[in-house]
Amino acid sequence: MSNQIKVVLTEDEIPRQWYNIQADLSHPLPPPLGPDGKPVTPAMLEKVFPANMLPQEFATERWIDIPEGILEKLYLWRPAPLFRARALEKALGTPAKIYYKNEGFSPAGSHKPNTSVAQAWYNKEFGIKRLTTETGAGQWGSALAFACALFGLKCRVYMVRISFDQKPFRKLMMQAWGAECLPSPSENTAFGRKVLEDDMDTPGSLGIAISEAIEDCVSSKDTRYSLGSVLNHVLMHQTIIGLEAKKQMAKINEYPDVVIGCAGGGSNFAGLAFPFLADKMAGKNLRVVAVEPAACPTLTKGPFVYDHGDCAGMTPLLAMHSLGHTFVPKPIHAGGLRYHGMAPLVSHVLREGLIEASALHQVECYTSAVQWARTEGFIPAPETSHAIAQVVREANRAKEEGKERVILFNWSGHGLMDLTGYDNFLQGHLHDYHLTDEDMKKSLASLEGLPKPPPLK
Ligand SMILES: *Cc1c(COP(=O)(O)O)cnc(C)c1O
Repeated sequence: MSNQIKVVLTEDEIPRQWYNIQADLSHPLPPPLGPDGKPVTPAMLEKVFPANMLPQEFATERWIDIPEGILEKLYLWRPAPLFRARALEKALGTPAKIYYKNEGFSPAGSHKPNTSVAQAWYNKEFGIKRLTTETGAGQWGSALAFACALFGLKCRVYMVRISFDQKPFRKLMMQAWGAECLPSPSENTAFGRKVLEDDMDTPGSLGIAISEAIEDCVSSKDTRYSLGSVLNHVLMHQTIIGLEAKKQMAKINEYPDVVIGCAGGGSNFAGLAFPFLADKMAGKNLRVVAVEPAACPTLTKGPFVYDHGDCAGMTPLLAMHSLGHTFVPKPIHAGGLRYHGMAPLVSHVLREGLIEASALHQVECYTSAVQWARTEGFIPAPETSHAIAQVVREANRAKEEGKERVILFNWSGHGLMDLTGYDNFLQGHLHDYHLTDEDMKKSLASLEGLPKPPPLK
């Protein structure tokens, strides 16, 4: 059908299992390490994550059933439509076909509820009454608040103070869904009080907020902690995106030559890409590209190391590309892409040569985001704009080469809560941040003395 813009699936066609890429890797993932340098066992994490979900973090079976209770809630916005960006193709004059999964239809406006709903369900089943978490700009906090509301769980979100003050709308979403949102550092935890004692006016950081959320969790009854990206089980929950996309592409007899996603912690990228990487590992020919901000170039400039997930060094060591856990990114607008590390699984597939990484500056990304909004209508999140800018590059390349390439990317969320960045861009105030070797050297120094991951054999 020549006018087709959307490919939709019915509830009956929703994937009923998540894809676990760990089953297909040619080298096993290096395990997370505890403070003693030995691999962490599931039992060690039972105070932090519910024991009925923990096996997923270590699982090596290829398919894991999605419980009916989770599917029931996902039906609120899933299956998510696959769109073809015909207007953008026309504006670019490219022979390429551009397809995208629109994850902006979820109640919180991004892909994040795919895992927050799953995590809230496992906690509820396990008898947990309350979840704690941290949030930067508020996307994850609002996604978890939404999920907790669906299952009648209490939710406390430690939100980085500067965002709490400057970005009230995500906080209001959390409150509308019944969650408690505290500025971090807070008076609520010993760690928060200590930070405030040293500096009453600190803007806070994600590292501090993680430490507070974990302290709150382990010192409370019937409480667990929840993380929105990076970990294996989180990436697996997101594979429903790629599994739907494969069904949708098959319906119109298409298959992507290039798959693209933006990468902060790596979850939306992995969610779309991993089911396609399964085909690539089985011999299919396609390119897969993760796009990160040039101001936080974890995959393109960070070494593959063992590093902590948080600034205080409280979490186990993860084998990943990292800029060092003390890395403080410049204040680019894509808050969700400002993380010092990258999911171990995404880092691993880069190391295995299965994916490529690209680093882009924010002015190019906003330029593409505005072109997108003026052709395709939906206003993308600043994070999503990184994927869009890469798509534009690929489409222009297809034009130069005269190739009718099929591009598929993850439209990870809308930007309606992030219009300040658009304001800065439209007024010409936005500029690029260039990371200096000096900046890099300082944060990379925090890796000294940590164990090294084994080389690939
Ligand atoms: C949080 C977020 C991201 C980055 O997180 P990943 O775990 O890398 O997916 C990207 N896009 C949107 C819209 C987000 O909210």
